[in-house]
Amino acid sequence: MLWPALFFDRKKQTHKGDYGHVLIVAGSRSYTGAALLCSGAAMRSGAGYVTLAFPESLQGVIACGVREVVTLPLRSTAQQSVSERALPQLVPVLKKSDCLLVGCGMSRHPSTQALIRSLVRRASTPVVVDADGLNAMAGHLGILRGLKHPVVLTPHPGEMERLCGRRIVAAPAARKEVAKDFSLRYNVTLILKGPRSVVCSSRGRLYENTTGNPGLATAGSGDVLSGIVAAFLGQGMEPFEAACRAVYIHGLAADLAAKEKTQPGMIASDVIDYLPKAFKRCR
Ligand code: AMP
Ligand code: MG
Repeated sequence: MLWPALFFDRKKQTHKGDYGHVLIVAGSRSYTGAALLCSGAAMRSGAGYVTLAFPESLQGVIACGVREVVTLPLRSTAQQSVSERALPQLVPVLKKSDCLLVGCGMSRHPSTQALIRSLVRRASTPVVVDADGLNAMAGHLGILRGLKHPVVLTPHPGEMERLCGRRIVAAPAARKEVAKDFSLRYNVTLILKGPRSVVCSSRGRLYENTTGNPGLATAGSGDVLSGIVAAFLGQGMEPFEAACRAVYIHGLAADLAAKEKTQPGMIASDVIDYLPKAFKRCR
């Protein structure tokens, strides 16, 4: 897999502003870890600057879990998920950012889901939608058709079934067909996750990933992937290239983690820890 010339060897006259500002909206009472994992993965994938926005009541927990990320506590619901009332807090940051990642661990609270849809509509930069963000889009897919900015969706098979209302069978040819139908219909780049994740561009270009192992079947590994995709988009990669490279490097880091820690012994944060070694292999 070819990488952009300056991805590994950055030019000397450069600063963090050259590597993208990623805005991540994530987390809720029970899912603080999702917010930490996706933002940590984005930082480890070359993002210049990450703003992590989450329900304000979680500030103590989140701030203790990250050092490199700027935190943005948001108005929240009584259930400690992000509220619709947080939109005015997010719009100015959205305007300044190069990529938006929304959905990881956000909950299915109606106010949270409405906020997610508003953000997807209002963004003018590439958007990655994962997890509860995908649940927010299910039944509202018409929103995607009219958008001018690129959107990358990252469903696992269960989320894909909710999105398209179809059973997803495991056979590779069937997975590719579903991914292609969906991407073309809704003008999105799709990562249909699983063993050998399938990526499809909004024009129907397909890629099947070869890296990764069953050690990834563990909570949080999808959050790590979405953070990597967002970091690559923020650095200016095209959506299909960003998605293919992200699934590849995510799987490769998982393979290196499994070699050292075994498949049952690895956890999602190990995948972040092994990203530098995975990048070294690609250089
Ligand atoms: P999620 O279900 O959102 O946490 O995402 C799980 C992540 O782990 C995706 O990137 C999947 O492609 C990957 N994954 C899960 N199970 C396997 C498996 N058996 N082999 C390879 N990758 C897997
Ligand atoms: Mg997930």
